[in-house]
Amino acid sequence: MSEENPESLLKNDAGKNKDKVFCTFCPSKVLNQGSATFVNIQFSLPYMQRKGDGQADERESISDYWLVEDMYTFENIGVSNTVENVKYLACADCERGPIGWHDLKTKKSYIALSRVKHA
Ligand SMILES: [Zn+2]
Repeated sequence: MSEENPESLLKNDAGKNKDKVFCTFCPSKVLNQGSATFVNIQFSLPYMQRKGDGQADERESISDYWLVEDMYTFENIGVSNTVENVKYLACADCERGPIGWHDLKTKKSYIALSRVKHA
């Protein structure tokens, strides 16, 4: 895997995800192959934790995301808290997150490549 382009192995020629996307903590499937498009967008996500632990203050700046145009595209997805126009997305089963965010204005969702498993 190249340091500069880790996503190049994960996307196909059309920029879609080559592999299925899973939660990193449990077998829950988040997306099927080819259902999301790679985008480079700067967004800070709070660090991962379990639902109920409260919101982390610390944030991680992430720029590699899978763009999901429609919430119905997800195989399984959970939502945690809403902050302003953003709804944080978590695993539907183990509730660990956020693995991405949903923009309430554009209705688009973004899943961080670094917070999911590709298989
Ligand atoms: Zn999970």
